[in-house]
Formats: sequence, C-alpha cells, structure tokens
Amino acid sequence: MMHTATGRLGMLEEVLGALNMGVVVLDQARQVVLWNGWMGQYSGHAGKDVLGQDLFGVFPDLKGKRLDSAVQQALRDNFPSVLSQTLHKAPFALFANPAARAANERMQQAVAVTPLTVAGGERHCLIQIADVSVAVNRERLLREQALELRSQTFSDGLTGIANRRHFDVTMEKELRRAKRSGSPLTLMMIDIDAFKPFNDHYGHQIGDDALIKVATALARMLQRPADLIARYGGEEFAAVLPDMDAAQSMKMAEAMRLTVAALNIPHEKAGHADRVTISIGLATLSNGSQSTIADLLGAADRALYTAKRAGRNCVVAHTD
Ligand code: GH3
Ligand code: MG
Ligand code: MG
Repeated sequence: MMHTATGRLGMLEEVLGALNMGVVVLDQARQVVLWNGWMGQYSGHAGKDVLGQDLFGVFPDLKGKRLDSAVQQALRDNFPSVLSQTLHKAPFALFANPAARAANERMQQAVAVTPLTVAGGERHCLIQIADVSVAVNRERLLREQALELRSQTFSDGLTGIANRRHFDVTMEKELRRAKRSGSPLTLMMIDIDAFKPFNDHYGHQIGDDALIKVATALARMLQRPADLIARYGGEEFAAVLPDMDAAQSMKMAEAMRLTVAALNIPHEKAGHADRVTISIGLATLSNGSQSTIADLLGAADRALYTAKRAGRNCVVAHTD
C-alpha cells in the first residue's frame, strides 16, 4: 500500500518524537528549525519555545566551544564532525532527571554534527545527540576495578606494603638501571628476631598485629620515591634502595633497627632482648659490578645469617 505524502510526514513526526536520541536541525542563521521530543524532555526547553531561536542563545555556554566551530564547519564548509566523547564529555546542558539537574550532573553525550542540503539548495546542519552515560559509567567502573586489582596484585594483604611480586619487578628494574648508570644499589634483607617463640607465646593474632606494626614503621622510613620495602615472606622484609652506597645503607639500617626496638612491643620469650627486634643483612652493588639478583640476594642472606649468629638485633653488611 502506498503512503500519501501527508501520511508519510505524519509518520516521520511520530518517529522523530519517539527517537531515543536528540535531533536538532539548524538553518543557515543557526536558528533552530527542528527540535525533537527527546530534546524537549532532557533540555527542559519545549520545541515551541526554541523554534526560530539561535541555538547559542538557548545554550549560551556552547558559544566559542567545539560545538560552535563544528556547526560553523557544517554550515560554511559542508564538513561533518563527531565530537570525541573523551574530549567533550557533556557539551549540552541536558539532564537525565530533575535530581541530576539540581546537582548539575549533565548527561554524558556523544554528539555528531552533519551538514544537510535541504530543498532550495540551502545548507542546514543536523545535530544528533546520544546519551552514553551508561557506557561511560561502565567504563569508569571497569577502570576503577582494574586499578584496584593492580594494587591488590602488588601489595601484601596483611601489612599493606609491597609484596614479593612487587619486589621482584622493582629489583629487576633497579638493578638494570644501576648497572647502566654505574650508580650504587643496596638490597636489605630484614628478619624479625625470635618470631616463632613470639607467636607461640602471644598467639597468632598478636603476632599479626606485631607484623603490621613493624612493616608500617619500616615503610615510613623510606625517603625517596624509588625506594621500596616489601614483605618478602612470613616475617621477612626486603628493601631495594637505589643510589644508596654501603655507608649510607648501614646508617639507614641502623636507624631501622632502632625504630623497631623503639616500638616497644614486649617479647618475654626472645632471650636476646625484652622486646621485638629485627636483624638486617646488607648487600650493595658497587660501580661496574656484574652481580645478578641471585648474587645480591645470596649476599644479603649470608649477611643476615651472620647477624643472627652474632646475637640478633644487629646489622651486618656483606663483604666479599
Ligand atoms: P630468628 O630470630 O632466627 O629469625 O627466629 P624466628 O623464630 O623468627 O625464625 P623462624 O623462621 O624459625 O620463624 C618464623 C616464624 O614467623 C614462624 C611463624 O610462627 C612466624 N610467622 C611467619 N609468618 C607469619 C604471619 O603471617 N603471621 C604470624 N602471626 N606469624 C608468622
Ligand atoms: Mg625468617
Ligand atoms: Mg625470624
């Protein structure tokens, strides 16, 4: 069955009114000649109030913005534009509901500006606006989750400081950098003294609390952004200290040892002391050394072992 011309027009009106996106047509003078129902609903301006008006009078904050030049390019140069959603989040003052309007939270928009040639050859400009709030919010959620996951995979669940994986990645990066630049790099292995008797005597929960306190106190002592301290295993920590030579790192380790002792966490069963203490082994990569990560770890471990045998609560530096 054929539609009559007026029947077809009526149907187009219906479609425009039902469209789930904004449709605006401007004439050569940038005056609104078409404004669909969607625009009326979300802009708060009914078609009868804006028809014949300058669009940039209805939305004054669009003046001089990207949409302004896109309309100019369409009308003057017959040139279409798509406004990138990331660069132009919400050009039009459109609101999903009165609450969003009150809070001034604009609908997220994807906008396309297309030149039209209408009867008589005059150039018009079609603006299409889609509500992309759902997609944008989903994207933000995914980004936040990715960040959260990333921080979880790089931090230790109990103490909140870096974990072993973070240490491995940092150590590899910093060792490469130290070798390239010829600057020193210190690796510290830190172990809580007599922690098994501590747990046996005070219980695992208080043991966990002590671990958190020690980890937090040690992490606070790092001064430079490239420094890293990680929980290496049970009650063992490892620190990577770029640009720190043997003398500087000995000072730092001594300060760490004193800081932990000053936490005054009572330890009746320690034997060597009356409180929780740490022992530290140091290994420093010096200029031009070919040492591998395994070499440095081995050297720091041996120094730590020497510190334990020397009576605990002390610092020993590796010597070749
Ligand atoms: P040393 O001075 O030689 O280091 O003696 P130590 O008792 O600390 O050494 P050992 O390695 O024998 O014991 C480590 C203990 O640390 C074993 C375990 O009871 C405790 N530990 C390891 N991880 C955790 C943890 O996540 N929470 C608690 N509460 N205790 C832990
Ligand atoms: Mg240990
Ligand atoms: Mg220990």
